[in-house]
Amino acid sequence: MEWPPKYHTDYHPSPEQEYWSRELETMSPADRDKTILAKLQAQVRYAYQNSGFYQEFYKDVKVDPTNLANLEEFAQLPILTKEDIRHEQEQHPPYGRFICVPIQEIFRVHGTSGTTGRPTVFGIGKDDWDRIGEAHARILWGAGLRPDDTVMVAAVFSLYVGSWGALVGAERLGATCFPFGSGAPGQTERAVEWCTMVKPTALYATPSYALYLAETARQMGFNPKEDFGFRFMFFSGEPGASVPATKRLIEDTFGCYIVDQGSMAEMTPWMSNSGCKYLDSGMHLWQDIVYTEMVDPRTRLNLSLGEEGVPVYSHTERTSQPMIRYWSGDIARWDMVDCPCGRSYPTLIKGIYGRVDDMIIVRGQNVFPSRIEDVLRGLHEFGGEFRLVLEREPGHMDNLTVQAEVSAQEYATREFNPAEFEQIRERFTTELRRAIGVSVGVQLKPAGAFERTQFKARRIIDLRTPS
Ligand SMILES: [Zn+2]
Repeated sequence: MEWPPKYHTDYHPSPEQEYWSRELETMSPADRDKTILAKLQAQVRYAYQNSGFYQEFYKDVKVDPTNLANLEEFAQLPILTKEDIRHEQEQHPPYGRFICVPIQEIFRVHGTSGTTGRPTVFGIGKDDWDRIGEAHARILWGAGLRPDDTVMVAAVFSLYVGSWGALVGAERLGATCFPFGSGAPGQTERAVEWCTMVKPTALYATPSYALYLAETARQMGFNPKEDFGFRFMFFSGEPGASVPATKRLIEDTFGCYIVDQGSMAEMTPWMSNSGCKYLDSGMHLWQDIVYTEMVDPRTRLNLSLGEEGVPVYSHTERTSQPMIRYWSGDIARWDMVDCPCGRSYPTLIKGIYGRVDDMIIVRGQNVFPSRIEDVLRGLHEFGGEFRLVLEREPGHMDNLTVQAEVSAQEYATREFNPAEFEQIRERFTTELRRAIGVSVGVQLKPAGAFERTQFKARRIIDLRTPS
């Protein structure tokens, strides 16, 4: 096997073809394991031979990193965490000893913003950048993108690699690219105007941003379904695209279908978790591009299909800064599904619905914000945004209060009638208790009470004092 694989940049499937690569996407699980093992053997050997970090990190392992016999041996390599990367990059700035190519071959520098600690840096070589484009083109093809589409990328073009990854994939596929960006004052109003002029057929953004775009359009007197021309949307960065009620809301608002995507910036090609145009909820794991294991959050041992755990990701064709067995900290459940697309990949059946750190424990029950979002969006009085307030009185259990907006119409008609208002509050309380299994407090707020986000929504307000 040739490693890293060489791709022909002049290859394009014919538009009516379902697959970019039928062979890779529909092979039997046993054949796929063989393909993955061959790629991982080469990837781990290469990283071990070229990276001072991995030489040290694998110092005490019981297996031979230059000659892994099977996927079980691969699973004995230590898990890499964000803290490991931070520590290594602090000791050996800026990249750490991860870089396996001459430093002048770094083609792009990206990273995380560092809102929760020291920023992490990714150095990406030109060959890797091209392979990212190839992988994303293949996956976007599966999502339904075709060369005659126009893709609007309505996410910020910065250090954040998400928008660039979407762009390079759409470019490689041969679509018309419309890198609009986001985040500047007044930019969403301009996005509305440009959408009505250019009529892009595909949108990349976050689910929150798509809803914000629709709200802005309506305020400006447009109807997102009739005045825009979106055929489909692909999202990352938030669980919304696999939250059934949010998915339906976006699809109904724009009259299009949506596809959930995204692993982690560190793992770019981050589209290796991606739905297709048929999948109702969740994401296929394009295992031959980025290999995903599911790991128990406590024991850190591998879990079988059907179980819930933390996805751990590995590059399979990275020469510049490979990440091997990288701990995502996300929570998901994986299984095989019988998808009409015919792809034989395992699937994160409900997408990524939580973070190990975001999991709220209320009276012994695990509660994820995405579940609460799903319930709220199913209630017609809901006004569009919410916050979760966590409090703890000394010596007592944690209390969760859901602050939910009530639609402007409902609020206006009932504001002066507390009894009617109380009915809505009780309905919210009952529906939430039924869905999550424990009682939570509910406070109603007028529509627009909470700030709309152009990026990832931050909805948890943690007022607990450490006890
Ligand atoms: Zn599918």
